[in-house]
Amino acid sequence: MTGLLHASVTRQAASRPEATAVVFGEERLTYGQLEKRSNQIARALLNAGCGTGDSVGFMIPKSIDAIISIIGILKAGGIYIPIDVNSPPARSARIIDACEPAVVLTTGSDIEKLQLVLAESTVERPAGGVLDSDGMPDWLSAQSFGMSDIAQLSATPLLTESSPEDVAYILFTSGSTGIPKGVPISHANVFAFVEWANGYFGVDSTDRLSGHTAFHFDLSAYDLFGSLFAGAELHLVTPEATLLPNKTAEFIRQSKLTQWFTVPSILNYMSKFRVIAQDDFPDLRRVIWCGEVLPTPTLVDWMTKLPHASFTNLYGPTEATIASSYYRMPSIPKSLTETIPIGQACPGESLLILDENLKPVENGVTGDLYIGGVGLSRGYWRDDAKTRTSFIEPEHSGGLGRIYKTGDLAYVGDDGLVYFVGRSDTQIKSRGYRIELGEIETALGTIDALVESAVVAIPSDNFDGKLICCAFVSKEDDRTDAVDVKNQLRLLVPDYMVPARWAQYNSLPKNASGKIDRVQLQKQFSEGSTDGLAAAARS
Ligand code: AMP
Repeated sequence: MTGLLHASVTRQAASRPEATAVVFGEERLTYGQLEKRSNQIARALLNAGCGTGDSVGFMIPKSIDAIISIIGILKAGGIYIPIDVNSPPARSARIIDACEPAVVLTTGSDIEKLQLVLAESTVERPAGGVLDSDGMPDWLSAQSFGMSDIAQLSATPLLTESSPEDVAYILFTSGSTGIPKGVPISHANVFAFVEWANGYFGVDSTDRLSGHTAFHFDLSAYDLFGSLFAGAELHLVTPEATLLPNKTAEFIRQSKLTQWFTVPSILNYMSKFRVIAQDDFPDLRRVIWCGEVLPTPTLVDWMTKLPHASFTNLYGPTEATIASSYYRMPSIPKSLTETIPIGQACPGESLLILDENLKPVENGVTGDLYIGGVGLSRGYWRDDAKTRTSFIEPEHSGGLGRIYKTGDLAYVGDDGLVYFVGRSDTQIKSRGYRIELGEIETALGTIDALVESAVVAIPSDNFDGKLICCAFVSKEDDRTDAVDVKNQLRLLVPDYMVPARWAQYNSLPKNASGKIDRVQLQKQFSEGSTDGLAAAARS
């Protein structure tokens, strides 16, 4: 196998052109079709001026076109930059600004959204590659190509020069200063994980894998490249199937999935809404989750219902590519309060629990979790300062090699396995989304009508991770209330970052040093004593 991600498509197309590569609703794409159509996209990109190492923005929701585009971008030697179609244009524009893409690919239905994003961007307008429509604005149509143009192009392979060390994609994660952080990941980074994971899980061409997360989350890289490497079928989970837990269950059943790779909040919903029957999903061989702690009662429920499947916890941040450690459940937990470890490092990676002097702490003692090895990103995209604070170069790590400070707290148990404890900062997971509370606060800081505001997270009594709460004070004589603030915030951050609870104060509680007392705020939100504050603030 070569170390280039798109090479697996060419290999599969040569040996099994009629085999199904991707399924999305009623649509099916074979490896042969994927090979040809991605060659055509790659040609269109080269014709549009995209060269090796260029960024290509990619604003296409989960679909067969999206997969063809990703492979086409890689074949053209480009870097794919997924841009969430549902993110506010102002935020997506910062991603465009950071990457200065040579081309942005989108489909006709999203052309207006792309137009809004580009209008907010400071970059000279990149060419917009429109995949399936002719009705587009003048300035864009001058630089665009439609699907009919692409279909005219030769589908023979291209000879571009990329190397495994080249960046394959850049994913943007929430940034505490308000600007999303770009994490560049190379072909080699992904390849290392996929090669291990496919071997460990025994993925082969008889498998039907789920494609659950959107392309701007790194779990999608395993769904996609794991499937293509094995010559398996990738079943993209449709938007309808993610809406309700019973629809998700139906999707797993009807697609006859053999692997279900998802985030804990989805497993939680499915369990709480009792949509899994005893011995359900008979084809399912593996359930894999990553991204946050899976409550043990949920895991016990799943394992009891599906005795025929294996269950594996994967842990890792985007910066270390998909996952860095794993733990396969040897048996159903004996108690509902048992802590599930994040396990041991994947081969080629290391998990280190260190103190503030970068010295290993003793077993059982909680310390900072660092990761080293083959998955590490080269650092944040065009942001040396942020890179220096999180990535420690070998000359500064005291013989530990290059390591990444995750911001997670963990300890090593007596069993030699690593256990996740929590975060050392204000990054949270809510419904599977990675969120820096600082990003929300920075966005609130730009709203004129507010004097001060603070965002805290409290445990959710539901089953979707943390609940985001916002406390704010509006300017005197300003009638701005929570609904107004919420509406303004929606223009600045994605919906999943918009706080669920709001409280309007006359002034925010302060601690002895005069800083906003976030502990106090958390307590008030948890106890519900913020209720009625809005009325009080008005009086
Ligand atoms: P992301 O970059 O979105 O993958 O988020 C990475 C962060 O999610 C990690 O630094 C952890 O805080 C958390 N995380 C990822 N996997 C797990 C897991 N299996 N258990 C607990 N937390 C996790």
